Amino acid sequence: MDNTVRLQYLQAMGIDVWIPRASDHAEQPLLSNSVAGKNVLESPSEQNSWTDLESEVAKCSQCALCETRTQTVFGTGNKNADWMIIGEAPGQHEDQQGKPFVGNAGLLLTEMLRAIGLSREQVFITNILKCRPPGNRDPKAEEVESCNGYLLRQQQMLQPKIILAVGRIAAQTLLKTDSPLSKLRGKKHTFNDTPVVVVYHPAYLLRSLSEKRKAWQDLIVAMQIYNEIEG
Ligand code: URA
Repeated sequence: MDNTVRLQYLQAMGIDVWIPRASDHAEQPLLSNSVAGKNVLESPSEQNSWTDLESEVAKCSQCALCETRTQTVFGTGNKNADWMIIGEAPGQHEDQQGKPFVGNAGLLLTEMLRAIGLSREQVFITNILKCRPPGNRDPKAEEVESCNGYLLRQQQMLQPKIILAVGRIAAQTLLKTDSPLSKLRGKKHTFNDTPVVVVYHPAYLLRSLSEKRKAWQDLIVAMQIYNEIEG
């Protein structure tokens, strides 16, 4: 992304932007440079399980979304990541490109991650649903149910140290609750023993700039919880 646009996004979120001097390293993270993916090479059997799962998802016809999708969106990133980022479902751009969070909301998500020292290559990003609901409507219960096994297997293989639930639908689905996002944010939850932090969806933030500070606070909470786990 163009640097000026990047800074505008961060400033819109109320994040104080630290601009490096010319002598500083240009790609220095804004908050911390201590967060990294595990950077461990996958063993051949691990590679197989990921490849097997991805091809299973690509062929999936367990719900009606297979009839309207262009392609499935499995997830991208580091298969040894500490951080698993879970959104709701692919939108139009994701359905076309086969990658999660590549539209405008994705650009903001990338900047939110970068603000806490994480690149997209260091984390693993996926969604509750692997196929786009037509017109970007909310996922139906039967679609979530059909996709649930894939998400669980991704979590089991990744063994993330922390999960970021991005937006209301991801949060309510993972945490099996109807509570509003305002009640879920700002604290540690768990999903299959992995700590979960709920953050506002970047698409919502793009529409409601008044919530921008809260988004930053949520990211700080996530970092604090991650740092506690890391000791
Ligand atoms: N919104 C999501 O929740 N996920 C995507 O992949 C894109 C937009």
